[in-house]
Amino acid sequence: MSEISGNASAIAAQKKTEADSYSPTPEILELWNTVHDELRDEFGEAVFRSWLKPLTLQACYHGTLEVSVPTRFMRDWIQTHYAARILQMCEQKNAGMRRLEIVVVQSAHAFGAAEEKKAAIQPKANQNVRESEDSYAHCAPFDPRFTFETFVVGKPNALAHAAARRVVESQNVPFNPLFLYGGVGLGKTHLMHAIGWALKKHWPEKRVMYLSAERFMYQFVRALRAKDAMAFKEAFRSVDVLMIDDIQFISNKESTQEEFFHTFNALVDQNKQIIISADKAPSDLLGLEERLRSRLAWGLVADIHPSTYDLRLGILQSKRALLQATIPDAVLEFLALKVTSNIRELEGALNRIVAHADVTKQPVTLESTQDVLQDLLRSHDRRITIDEIQRKVAEHYNIRMTDMHSARRARNVARPRQVAMYLAKHLTTRSLPEIGRKFGGRDHTTVMHAVRKIEELMKDDAQIAQDVEVVRRALTG
Ligand code: ADP
Ligand code: MG
Repeated sequence: MSEISGNASAIAAQKKTEADSYSPTPEILELWNTVHDELRDEFGEAVFRSWLKPLTLQACYHGTLEVSVPTRFMRDWIQTHYAARILQMCEQKNAGMRRLEIVVVQSAHAFGAAEEKKAAIQPKANQNVRESEDSYAHCAPFDPRFTFETFVVGKPNALAHAAARRVVESQNVPFNPLFLYGGVGLGKTHLMHAIGWALKKHWPEKRVMYLSAERFMYQFVRALRAKDAMAFKEAFRSVDVLMIDDIQFISNKESTQEEFFHTFNALVDQNKQIIISADKAPSDLLGLEERLRSRLAWGLVADIHPSTYDLRLGILQSKRALLQATIPDAVLEFLALKVTSNIRELEGALNRIVAHADVTKQPVTLESTQDVLQDLLRSHDRRITIDEIQRKVAEHYNIRMTDMHSARRARNVARPRQVAMYLAKHLTTRSLPEIGRKFGGRDHTTVMHAVRKIEELMKDDAQIAQDVEVVRRALTG
């Protein structure tokens, strides 16, 4: 079955994995040039010049011919009036051509004649570069690994995940913008790509654009240099969903902020969904203009908290299933406990032990894991002292350092003290009696009780779990 599609959005990821068969071969170029010429004969000079001349071959993969036009309007027009015939003509010359994909590419040179284009579409070494260089409107490809199916939900990311789902499932715009923020490696980009994939599936007609703020700035500067600001504006203002990752990047970049602010307002006015990510809450993005900061906080602001032990374990289990690797539970538990900085590093650790087992043809064990990850674990175990732990915990709970050693049993000091004991057990190599001594000469059973108590509380008290993680990060990060 032949198929014609004008959906310019999000096809990129698919292509990425097909990079090998992506560039048009000389035969395909030849085919296209012939068809392009024949279009003039068939439809006459006037129609050709108005509509068909700007058609530019971009790529060919798996029987799909991808051609570009400079505007959406043009795309829609060609789609309804000429696409079927163009595909037919291509099929007659090469039976393998089954699909015609018309994309909008708004670059200065997209207006040129087909001949001038030949040089521009010669196969290039890196297809990803081609993706982004060609146009202002081209979005970055979505990573096939980052979907909702592979995103593990836990307390730290539940709100962000639910909000992302809402955006995908809602007929109209539920909140604008959706602002996702959290530390590095906690899953912001993953969630945005997941939204991209799901939108592509549920609403194939929607134009979805995803790019990093860095890319946004690069495109903008390039447009200015090419005196092409109008094309840039049109490209960004004609999407249905705009996702900008890592907005903190445009801190202190005044003119980019200005342009972004206008793009933002134009899209909100048209009731188009905007999704932004950052490493901080809007109010903490100090390099951003005040009016932009307050605008960013208008919709739903969802933070992703540092991961908890449970979430880390869940992610490791899910990764293990995906990798179809045989890894003992004890190893996953060990990693979840030790590699706490961020999920990216956690995944890296898991990949390393799996790769090692693969190469050595040895099963994964706790010993081999400790061996392979020596350097990583050492950096995490970096001589944290009990003193340091006590100080950080006292700071966090706003109690006095002396309360760590005192006999006071009031909950507001006893609980932090237990947290400190728990961390001392996990972050140092001190024995229980040694730890007890450091806490005002307490018995080792008291320490053991504290460790168990905190472990239990962390399971169903999100506040405690978060407190522990924050202090742990402050100590190990
Ligand atoms: P960020 O953009 O916040 O810096 P990423 O989205 O790039 O972080 O995530 C880093 C890595 O961790 C990615 O490989 C991602 O798939 C993984 N990851 C993060 N959170 C989760 C989660 N909840 N479930 C599964 N994988 C996750
Ligand atoms: Mg990211």
